[in-house]
Amino acid sequence: MNYGFVIDNRKCIGCHACTVACKSEHEVPVGVNRTHVKYVEKGTFPHNRRYFAVHRCNHCEAPPCVDICPTGALFKRTDGVVDFDHRRCIGCKSCMQACPYDALYIDPDSRSAAKCNYCAHRLDGGYEPACVVICPVEAIVSGDLDNPLSTIAQLVDSEPVTVRKPGKRTRPNVYYIDGNPAALDPALNARQAEYLFSGQAGGVGHFAGQPNAGNGYVETEALIRTAIEATGRQDLAIHPGAVERTVQELADTGSRRVYDAPDKGVLWGWEVTGYIWTKALATGTFIVTYLQSWITGIPNPQVELAALGTTLVLLLATTILLVKDLDRPGRFAYVLLRPNWTSWITRGGYILTLFIAVTGLLLVNVWFGWSLRPILAPLGLLLAILTANYTAFLLAQAKGRDLWRSPATSVRMLAQALTAGVVLVVFIDPESFQALRWFLGGALAVHLALQLLEVFIPHDSTDAARAGRKLTHGTLAIKFYSGIVVGGILPLALLLLVGGPAFLPLGLMILGGLLLTEYAWIRAPQLVPLS
Ligand code: SF4
Repeated sequence: MNYGFVIDNRKCIGCHACTVACKSEHEVPVGVNRTHVKYVEKGTFPHNRRYFAVHRCNHCEAPPCVDICPTGALFKRTDGVVDFDHRRCIGCKSCMQACPYDALYIDPDSRSAAKCNYCAHRLDGGYEPACVVICPVEAIVSGDLDNPLSTIAQLVDSEPVTVRKPGKRTRPNVYYIDGNPAALDPALNARQAEYLFSGQAGGVGHFAGQPNAGNGYVETEALIRTAIEATGRQDLAIHPGAVERTVQELADTGSRRVYDAPDKGVLWGWEVTGYIWTKALATGTFIVTYLQSWITGIPNPQVELAALGTTLVLLLATTILLVKDLDRPGRFAYVLLRPNWTSWITRGGYILTLFIAVTGLLLVNVWFGWSLRPILAPLGLLLAILTANYTAFLLAQAKGRDLWRSPATSVRMLAQALTAGVVLVVFIDPESFQALRWFLGGALAVHLALQLLEVFIPHDSTDAARAGRKLTHGTLAIKFYSGIVVGGILPLALLLLVGGPAFLPLGLMILGGLLLTEYAWIRAPQLVPLS
C-alpha cells in the first residue's frame, strides 16, 4: 500500500478551497499552511498566462525528514503516509532543512513541526483527505498507488506526470498532470515586488513575533537598498520579501510568482553558528593538547587542567546554544531518551554527551593524580574527532540545502577545530607556540583553501551555486570575505613573521574569522528558497 496524490492541472482553477479545507480540518493557525496554491504568471498583460501549483508534503518514499528527525516525531506509516507526532517534537527544525519541498512549518501555537499528514485520521476512518473532498473540479485525486485498479494508479500509468525536484531522490508520491515547470521549481520563477502575501512572513518558531529576527529580513532590507540603487526600481521597497532575486533574474526567467505562501526565511540562526564555533574550539583544544603530548610529552598538570577546563566550559556553552535553538527546549532530553538512530542529531547528542563525560573524568583524573590517562586520553581523542565532525554528517542529511552537503564539509570542520584548538592551546601555554606554529599554518591553510574551493568551483546543483553566490555577493559577502581575510589570509602571512608574545591579537583574529565565515556558511543556503 502506498498512498499518494495526483494534482491534475488540466482541471485546477486555483480557488484555494483545498487550502481552506485543510486549515479547517486541522485548525492550522494563521500564517502557516499544510497545503497552498502557488500562482506563477508568464508574459505581460494582455498576453499573460497564469499557472497553478498545489504544494504540500509529497509523502516521499525515501523521506529525508524522517531520517533526520532526532526523536522519531516524523515517521512513515505502513500505508506510505508520512505522519508526525507533535508530542515528540523538540522543535529543532532539522526536518525543515531536510525537506527539499518546504512542506513543514513550526506551528506557532504548539511550537512543534507540522505538515500535511494525508488526513491520516480521516483515512483511518475510511474517508478521503479534506482537500480531495472539497475540490470543486476533482483536480486532487488520492488513493493507493500500488493498487493497479485505483484511479490514481491508472492516471499515473496513462498520463504524462511529473514530480517536484526529482533529482533529490526522495521519490515523491505527489504527481502533477500538466504541471508547469516554472510553477514547480522555485529556481525557475522570480518573486515580484508585489505578490500576494509576500509581506506576510514573520519569524519561525521561537523567532515568531519578531518579524525581522532570524528570518533573513534584516539582510533583505540591506539588499533592497542595493537593488533599488542598481535598478532604480523604488517599488522594491514596498515588500521586503520581494528582494530574494535581482531584477536581472526576473528578466532571465520570464516567470514570476504572483501568489505564494510566506517565506520561512532563516531557520537556523546565530545559535547554530555559535554552537558549531564553540564545539570547534572545545574539540580542537582537546585534540591539540593530547596530540601535542605524544610529541612533546605529557603537559604539566596546570596546563592540562586548564586545557580540560577550557574544553568543558566550551562544551557547556555548546550544549546551552544547542538547547537554546530548540523551539521546545524542555524536550531536549528526548534526543537521548527517544532516539531515532538514523538522525545525526541523535548520534551527535550521544557523542557529545560521552565526550563531556570523558573530559570530566580526565579532569578529575589529573586533579587527583590518578593514572587513568592512558585509557581516557585516546578515548577522548576519538570522541573529540567525532564531536568535531558529526555536524558535517548532519548537514549532509539536510537535503534541502545543497551547499552544506559537500563531502568536503567534514574535512573543513576538522581543520576548523584544529585551527581553533592550536590558538587556545597557545593562549593557555604560550611556550607551545614554536612547536605548534607550522601545524597551525597547515590547518589554517587547509580550512581556507576548502572554503574558497567550495565557493568558486562549479557546482552540480543550482541551489548550491545560488547559495555560493549568496556568500560572495550581497550583505553576507562582507562577513564572508572579512572572515577569509582577517581570520585566514592575514594570519597565514603573519604567522611567518610573529613571535610568541604577539600571538594574542593574531589568535583573536583567527577565532573571529572562523566565527564570521561559519555564520556566512550556515546562513547562505537558507536564503535560497525551497519552494
Ligand atoms: Fe513530506 Fe518533505 Fe518529508 Fe518528503 S521530505 S515526506 S515532502 S515533509
